[in-house]
Amino acid sequence: MSQEDCLFCKILDGEIPADIVFESDSAIAFRDINPQAPTHVLVIPRRHIATINDLEAGDRELVGDLYLAAKQIAHMEGMADEGYRAVMNCNAGAGQSVFHIHLHVLGGRGLTWPPG
Ligand code: 5GP
Ligand code: ZN
Repeated sequence: MSQEDCLFCKILDGEIPADIVFESDSAIAFRDINPQAPTHVLVIPRRHIATINDLEAGDRELVGDLYLAAKQIAHMEGMADEGYRAVMNCNAGAGQSVFHIHLHVLGGRGLTWPPG
């Protein structure tokens, strides 16, 4: 189910090009257009869900799939052992700007905590 005017649904539909690095039945992943680390990949579900707040119990497996994709990507990018971060922002106050849930998978450099 794609949602009109959703940037990531347009990437899913192939309307907007992206550097896709991973695809599964439930998710795809592509490189962030404005990377914040040497590796910065976004993992998104194929189904449109706007924010974490919109998740339902039935989405359990889908969200798990996003993390399993992140793990595979970390291995593919050679950063699994050194360390990486897989985070999802919720709503504008946390920096969410695209309202189709996505895991940021960041690595390839040291990452500090807490984030800003
Ligand atoms: P958010 O701020 O919602 O957590 O993350 C959205 C991310 O999407 C940002 O890191 C931003 O750089 C990325 N982004 C925005 N527009 C595009 C685009 O057209 N293509 C790609 N590949 N990434 C995008
Ligand atoms: Zn969408």
